[in-house]
Amino acid sequence: MRIDILTLFPEMFTPLSTSIIGRAVADKKLEIVITDIRDYTLDKHKKCDDTPFGGGAGMVMMPQPIADAIKAVDPNHEAHRVFLSPRGRVLNQSVVIEFAKRDRLLLLCGHYEGVDQRVIDLYIDEELSVGDYVLTGGEIPAMAVTDAVSRYIDGVINAESLKQESFSSGMLEYPQYTRPQVFEGVKVPEVLTSGNHGEVDKWRKKQSEEITAKNRPDLLK
Ligand code: SAM
Repeated sequence: MRIDILTLFPEMFTPLSTSIIGRAVADKKLEIVITDIRDYTLDKHKKCDDTPFGGGAGMVMMPQPIADAIKAVDPNHEAHRVFLSPRGRVLNQSVVIEFAKRDRLLLLCGHYEGVDQRVIDLYIDEELSVGDYVLTGGEIPAMAVTDAVSRYIDGVINAESLKQESFSSGMLEYPQYTRPQVFEGVKVPEVLTSGNHGEVDKWRKKQSEEITAKNRPDLLK
């Protein structure tokens, strides 16, 4: 899969070159192409934003540099083009799985007050939000999408992990423990060291149900 990220702040994406995603890129399981929108501005001062028509606070990203950047990286509209935006459909695991089936994604990061609506109308397939709150830019949302989607690419993580984690069966995950068996006087639940896999499964299912009922009752509906 190839993921294009269009941003005014490419330096914010260092985290994607570390850990599991960094390894996936190094192993060529995933291609992440970060494009600096500023490289496409025709303004002699490299300006990419301006004041909003109609007045109001802040600055709006101008359409020309974004449109030219999109046309340069995805000339034949092969990518599913997503604008990260608090106005969008809200990201969840079903959206992640849906995106992971695509060959290409293009993630456009807004900043300041957002982007000129014409660029959304002309070049974007959908707006996507990471939740009901407002961030300073689309860079952290783009990293969240890239990370979550990459986990579903073959070989990026152990396939078993995907089967047994939060949301995979519509519930949240059970508690996990590792060594030592006693930490600061607190013991690991005995069932987990009993060697009885049937009992372990039963305990985990019950814990999942209780945690989901407590933290996310909406998932049980
Ligand atoms: N004026 C916009 C509004 O009220 O909807 C908010 C602009 S926000 C300060 C700047 C940029 O951050 C947005 O264009 C978007 O790309 C990104 N952003 C902020 N919150 C987001 C969220 N919850 N999900 C996805 N992107 C978000």
